[in-house]
Amino acid sequence: MSFNSLGLSDALLKAISKKGYTTPSPIQQKAIPPILEGKDVLASAQTGTGKTAGFTLPILQILAQGKHLSQRPIRALILTPTRELAAQILANIKEYGEFLDIRSTVIFGGVNQNPQVAQLRQGIDILVATPGRLIDLQNQGLISLSKVEILVLDEADRMLDMGFLRDIERIMKVLPPKRQNLMFSATFSRDIKKLAMGILNKPVQVEATPENTTVEAIVQKVYPCAKEKKTELIIKLITEGNWQQILVFTRTKQGANKLTESMISAGIKAAAIHGNKGQGARTKALAGFKNGSLTALVATDIAARGLDIPLLPHVVNFELPNIPEDYVHRIGRTGRAGASGEAISLFSPDETTFLRDIEKLVGLRLPIENIAGFEPDPKASTQPIKQGQGRPQRSSNPRKSSTDNSSRSGNNSFGPRRPNQNNDRR
Ligand code: AMP
Repeated sequence: MSFNSLGLSDALLKAISKKGYTTPSPIQQKAIPPILEGKDVLASAQTGTGKTAGFTLPILQILAQGKHLSQRPIRALILTPTRELAAQILANIKEYGEFLDIRSTVIFGGVNQNPQVAQLRQGIDILVATPGRLIDLQNQGLISLSKVEILVLDEADRMLDMGFLRDIERIMKVLPPKRQNLMFSATFSRDIKKLAMGILNKPVQVEATPENTTVEAIVQKVYPCAKEKKTELIIKLITEGNWQQILVFTRTKQGANKLTESMISAGIKAAAIHGNKGQGARTKALAGFKNGSLTALVATDIAARGLDIPLLPHVVNFELPNIPEDYVHRIGRTGRAGASGEAISLFSPDETTFLRDIEKLVGLRLPIENIAGFEPDPKASTQPIKQGQGRPQRSSNPRKSSTDNSSRSGNNSFGPRRPNQNNDRR
């Protein structure tokens, strides 16, 4: 199938070909036609499947064909969980929309709002936003969503995990009831299905990879390792394997910092990326990783969410995630766009429950390989990791504060404020 047969305009086809895409990815083939027909869509797709183009291309087409209102009210609203993802979606919109008269911008927390407000004042057709900053600006009367025709909830599962449900509900209340709704999620929990039922109207369901299963192109391995030897093992893997680009996941911010320091001491060019890092540091680390000046990027789950790093050969779980769905998200960073990749998990005895939960979710026994000299003591405790690092209470909104930490202020038309929660897991 070619892009020509999807019903996209010449201006978009030109931009697509400039990007070098020749064939639409499965999610694009399935999602673009119903979106162009104005239908609601519920899509199962994770980062790496080409989902961003799957919704931004048809949105650009719909808006470019629609009537131009002189005031340029926001006609498409794209909600995403993290700043990085928001920025990446905007970058894609700009590229795909190069030959169209469509204005777009992004708003997210953690940076001065004034430049964002100035952009909004000029009139914007497509707004990409994280929920916190959007509510902030709405409460201050600096943004109007009354003309929104298309709503996208991207990475909806992650937004719920991060505690954005209330925010999403508040935003829904100020949107026009008649609109087209698109929802993308990598996993489909009961909560996600409930959210979808509340927002979507007779959605067409499309799937890029089977629900909750891991991508076939990814070689998954588990290396049992004594907890205290994990740092030594990962350094050995990188240096002896001469790995050039490796994304490493830790469970905590402190863990990410500590591992990064050890890697740097061992001569590996590494940087950490997590919620305590300022936007500038995060952007710089990501750019360094993409341009090859950094070998290792050590990330927490939230920080890595939605990062667009094509063709990543190695992903290492330095620690297994305590939320099994995070495993699927993490390893989805490798084997992208048809290339094969390797996802390695360093597994210590105290993570036994996490491994079982992951295997249950993906429906696979992950292959275990022992590396001489690193095996854990067979008598080591398999007791789960101490309280505070274990399975979080999903309803307690555990991840909210670390990514979208815009301050809440002003007259709150969305209802009462939520207390600012601080949790150092991520
Ligand atoms: P996404 O899943 O939206 O994060 O996209 C993953 C990567 O695939 C991005 O680097 C896109 O630029 C790239 N991509 C999206 N669509 C295509 C396509 N049809 N052909 C090749 N690459 C694509």
